Amino acid sequence: MGAGPAGIAAAVSAAKAGMAVTLVDAQPEPGGQIWRGQWDAPVYPAARSWFAALRQSGVRLQMSQRVVTAPAPGWLGVTGPAGAAQLGYDRLVLATGARDRFLPFPGWTLPGVCGAGGLQALEKGGLDVRGKRIVLGGSGPLLLAVATHLRRRGARVLAVAEQAPTASLPGLLPGLLRHPGLLLQGLSALGLPLRPDTWVTRAEGDGQLRIVHLQTPRGPVALEADLLGVGYGLVPDLELPGLLGCAATSDGVVVDEGQRTSVAGVFAAGEPTGIGGVDKALAEGRVAGLWAAGREAEARLLGAEVRKGRAWAAALASTFALRPELRRIATPDTLLCRCEDVSVGDLQSFASGREARLHGRCGMGRCQGRTCGPATEFLFGWRPGGPRQPLAPTTFADLVGLLSPPEPP
Ligand SMILES: Cc1cc2nc3c(=O)[nH]c(=O)nc-3n(C[C@H](O)[C@H](O)[C@H](O)COP(=O)(O)OP(=O)(O)OC[C@H]3O[C@@H](n4cnc5c(N)ncnc54)[C@H](O)[C@@H]3O)c2cc1C
Repeated sequence: MGAGPAGIAAAVSAAKAGMAVTLVDAQPEPGGQIWRGQWDAPVYPAARSWFAALRQSGVRLQMSQRVVTAPAPGWLGVTGPAGAAQLGYDRLVLATGARDRFLPFPGWTLPGVCGAGGLQALEKGGLDVRGKRIVLGGSGPLLLAVATHLRRRGARVLAVAEQAPTASLPGLLPGLLRHPGLLLQGLSALGLPLRPDTWVTRAEGDGQLRIVHLQTPRGPVALEADLLGVGYGLVPDLELPGLLGCAATSDGVVVDEGQRTSVAGVFAAGEPTGIGGVDKALAEGRVAGLWAAGREAEARLLGAEVRKGRAWAAALASTFALRPELRRIATPDTLLCRCEDVSVGDLQSFASGREARLHGRCGMGRCQGRTCGPATEFLFGWRPGGPRQPLAPTTFADLVGLLSPPEPP
């Protein structure tokens, strides 16, 4: 489940070990976030070799199919252009990836402002950024990856505002040296206007973004810009693992050496077990696929690779820990839950996320708390509520079929 690097590695490894494998993803092509849009023309060498392996593996691809329900153990409900269907499985590898963590600030709902990863996804989907003045803000290596990508596409990147202090960044060097692919990515970011110790405080404009306000070590700075992409790191996508009852902490799904979750027959790999990037995703995906196929001994040989990926994940988490000042950027009238028009001030009388949902409708709209949930967790310390079925908007007719107990084979 999930055709990013982790899901592809799991599917190929299990298929090579003789299993009948189906790979399901909501996107039209395999690749996940990092290799999105490269299925026919891979840019990264790793994408080239994994796509070739996937094409030769005999894995059945079910693209443009979103998993929205889990009606019974061993069953998933999916929707897509061809309608809804129930899929049965003996073993399931969850490789659902991650998404931008977005924190609210005045002006964030202006057209021209979006998530950093979201901005990259929009460009990969056809948005023309040539000549556009772009500011990126937030935290983590994704900002530089997105800035490099947009610069290559002809954008003028004015600033990459990284909230982490300058002093913490050299701490990543040992890890980078152990991951040559990441080091190369890092080198391709040379020359970008990276500003550590800096964060976005406000976006201004009349119906469209015009000025981005930054807090820098030398005081406030204002930049005229066409687009602003903001992301405070990534949060693991835990909806489906949660629906299935997999134990998780705030870092991700809990797994053992075989990537097994607390639910029998269900494995997890990649970003859902902790944000660590593509090398960790590939290593964990291979282990999950092999273990699911009963090849535990082969899987154990990859233990060192997985540990290296997890060490990198830990280095990222400590280097890019969010500073407390970010809790004070939003003002009481800053919108927090855009779907239901709930402001930061509206939430201040509630004691928990559950109360805010029940009495304030925060997180009850179309996105079901995917955007505001991580923000309320950071701002108020509220743990996000458990996921609800369906995981994405679904027609009533489809839903009735998808929630019914599956037909016996
Ligand atoms: C927006 C964004 C952009 C990124 N860009 C870069 C980059 O340029 N460079 C870089 O090094 N790293 C990037 N990353 C980090 C990158 O995600 C990881 O390094 C790596 O791709 C993780 O692989 P993965 O397989 O764990 O997850 P992903 O690549 O995220 O794959 C998860 C897949 O699961 C699918 N999925 C999730 N839920 C469902 C569901 N319910 N039904 C069906 N399908 C589902 C998704 O459609 C997706 O294809 C990005 C992350 C994000 C969120």
